[in-house]
Amino acid sequence: MTTQPPPPTLRLTIDTHALAANWRALDTLSGSARAGAAVKANCYGLGVDLCVPALVEAGARDFFVAHWSEVAPLLDHVPPSQVGVLHGPINAQEAHYAKALGVRPVINSLHQARLWSEAGGGACHLMVDTGIHRLGLTPSELDDASVAKLDVQVLMSHLSSADEDSPANAAQLAAFRAARAMVSHRETSIANSAGIALGADFQCDLTRPGLALYGGVPSAGLAGHIRQVAYPQAAIIHVRELKAGDAVGYNREFTAPAPMRVGTVSLGYADGFLRSWGARGYFRHKGRPLPLLGKVSMDMVVVDLAEAPEAGVGDWLDVPYYLPDAAQHSGLSQYELLTGLGHRFERSIALDCAEDAANAKDDAAQH
Ligand SMILES: *Cc1c(COP(=O)(O)O)cnc(C)c1O
Repeated sequence: MTTQPPPPTLRLTIDTHALAANWRALDTLSGSARAGAAVKANCYGLGVDLCVPALVEAGARDFFVAHWSEVAPLLDHVPPSQVGVLHGPINAQEAHYAKALGVRPVINSLHQARLWSEAGGGACHLMVDTGIHRLGLTPSELDDASVAKLDVQVLMSHLSSADEDSPANAAQLAAFRAARAMVSHRETSIANSAGIALGADFQCDLTRPGLALYGGVPSAGLAGHIRQVAYPQAAIIHVRELKAGDAVGYNREFTAPAPMRVGTVSLGYADGFLRSWGARGYFRHKGRPLPLLGKVSMDMVVVDLAEAPEAGVGDWLDVPYYLPDAAQHSGLSQYELLTGLGHRFERSIALDCAEDAANAKDDAAQH
């Protein structure tokens, strides 16, 4: 006899139509460049297995992860030559792993350049640090002999302030142009999501959007082009009546001024719902806002059910996750809001998207 676990009390619905539309919009906004896709951190928390097929279907062919542990799950969906690994190899084992699988490391230092050549070399990408001082060779290192040996597919750099109107952007572009003259390479890439909106000079041959694919709006230039992709929901697991004077949650931050009906919801820190949401947060039930009461308390948060008198145990509440607004309410960045969504959410594709995908498969099978 098998015993199925009951369904979880957290779910995350992915609108893969919106995801595909966002990739196409970013590809169009990239002008003569093509858009790639940053799919690190499990597609910014949304799920590689749900998101990557939709990105492939939309037309994406250049995928980037950060860690070596993220390579194998991606190879279920895309060929190794389309995978770039942003952190690059820090030891011989990582370099040999890349070589064995046929994925492309992003070379970030002279040390990495030597490791890659010692492992047998082959096509790679090269990151130049033009001012973020995180990873990447400094421009002065580019004339090193170990760099000349590399077979560089994409010469890339990364902007520190693409989401701001900052003089750093033009300075980094100028440094990148100088670097291009020093290294032989086939293609160039400097723009992340926000960088795409900085205009044609920044688009180069390839853009590398991440956040905006998943519904993030990092700069005004992208507003109006990007649709929400991730829709988290949490179930009410208990309903109770508070008396005037009853306090709610750790440290008793909320005290009921009068009798009130409240719901305890199964959502907490491990799910990415941090205390910074505080008293400014709210959930929705059938569109009506339900304010949060007191502190998020580990795995639970309590909401005022005054606006939803019919809501009870097992009913789903929408967690408002239009990212620009959610960032304002929570004080978290749009990146943190996505990547923090924990493993207790049951992730699935929105029903109409899943039906369309199934129909497309049937059509393909018939022809
Ligand atoms: C994460 C990352 C991106 C994507 O950045 P977004 O701001 O999410 O669009 C692009 N390039 C590199 C090198 C990255 O690390």
